[in-house]
Amino acid sequence: MLKINNLHVSVADKPILKGLTLEVPAGEVHAVMGPNGAGKSTLGYSLSGRPGYEVTDGSASWNGQDLLGLDPAERAAAGVFLSFQYPMEIPGVPAMTFIRTALNAQKRARGEEEVSAPAFLKQVKAASQALKMDFDMLKRPLNVGFSGGEKKRMEILQMALLEPSLLILDETDSGLDIDALRIVSEGVNALRRADRSMLVITHYQRLLDYIKPDKVHVLAAGRIVASGGPELALELEAEGYDKFLPTAA
Ligand code: ADP
Ligand code: MG
Ligand code: MG
Repeated sequence: MLKINNLHVSVADKPILKGLTLEVPAGEVHAVMGPNGAGKSTLGYSLSGRPGYEVTDGSASWNGQDLLGLDPAERAAAGVFLSFQYPMEIPGVPAMTFIRTALNAQKRARGEEEVSAPAFLKQVKAASQALKMDFDMLKRPLNVGFSGGEKKRMEILQMALLEPSLLILDETDSGLDIDALRIVSEGVNALRRADRSMLVITHYQRLLDYIKPDKVHVLAAGRIVASGGPELALELEAEGYDKFLPTAA
């Protein structure tokens, strides 16, 4: 399971996460909702080990393994995958090459054998079909000139192929129309497994109509200030975040 305890994180010397505590048991999907600027993306970046996100206190572990002591590649090898709110573009590197390189780096770090080019090609074809992606897209430089929906599908494709055990989705719904939202959500739902946990970060309740969370947490001013079932997301949608903000207390 994912265990985060009293996590404090600063960005550019500014404290953003201020004692965040959260547990996601194996096999569960938890949503983290919160107003803009609450620290949702900071949470995702901190767990994936992005440089510039300085942990000043607290702990975070995945299946008993301390994440904070690992570099980003080691975290990926440990099964952590962060799907970005704004996926980056990588000119000059075909998407397929990018994913195979990442997959083989993970396999080497785990002491496993690398996947052969023909075997990988077969996997990519099957996974892209499931997501209704044009296979030719996989030959183009990663995300360059892709629409918002195509970028998000590419993120889900990467997840399907890299087989992470801890999936962190940061505002996967942003920029998606309803059809793309449904396809992306089905892709995510297909990845649900008893030994896999998911943290679904979102500003809007809409995504949770498609990806049904076991629990919903409210992140405001750098901490989890409320937790509940899926009904909490509906309550937030109806009433807003005001009552969770420090000034309203
Ligand atoms: P959310 O994803 O919930 O909208 P973020 O985690 O992106 O929130 O940001 C939380 C806070 O951290 C915001 O106040 C934001 O302005 C600040 N922040 C994020 N990145 C930086 C940065 N590189 N330098 C300074 N402040 C930052
Ligand atoms: Mg934001
Ligand atoms: Mg964000």
